[in-house]
Amino acid sequence: MRWFQNVPALIFGLGCGLACTAAQNDPALNVLVYSGVAPEILVQAEADSSRILERAGVLLNWRNCRPEYPCPIAPDFVHVSMRIVNHTGREGLGCSLVTKAGGSDAVAGLENVQRLAVASGIPAWQILAAVMAHEIGHLMLGPSHSGGGLMHGNWDVHDLGHLGQRQLKFDLAQSTRLKAAVLARSRPERTLLAARRP
Ligand SMILES: [Zn+2]
Repeated sequence: MRWFQNVPALIFGLGCGLACTAAQNDPALNVLVYSGVAPEILVQAEADSSRILERAGVLLNWRNCRPEYPCPIAPDFVHVSMRIVNHTGREGLGCSLVTKAGGSDAVAGLENVQRLAVASGIPAWQILAAVMAHEIGHLMLGPSHSGGGLMHGNWDVHDLGHLGQRQLKFDLAQSTRLKAAVLARSRPERTLLAARRP
């Protein structure tokens, strides 16, 4: 995903409020985070990314994997990984390894996130949150982009305005597909858990 240069300063600040619609029984996705990002940025980014996904009816379970707290789980069908690196090796904010069926590995590039934060006036953690939500969207929905909104391939001034106002989101059709995809992925785990019950 790319972003346009020379964006103007933006007004932002609306909260989630009553817009969050995920319920306790909504499907949850496990996200393994591999990152050296400062905790104060990471915590806010994860919380805001959760807010975006909750709005689509999906809960996120974050697990922060660090050398001192290694995660013993490898990315698989029900555990996706999000690596936050300085450079993705591309000019974009993030990328995912996906097929039409989705994927389990995504990357966010911190340096480009910080560059966009300076250019737009939007906090880096808020941009990182949206980038992670966008890439998680790819992992569930496949490589396609939409003409606008969170899954737009090139965030323009309009999208960044919504991002700054915490209104950049999955549309209704994407939310429905996203929820179905997470539910399908969680089914094998649920079946396994049910089989283990006495
Ligand atoms: Zn994308």
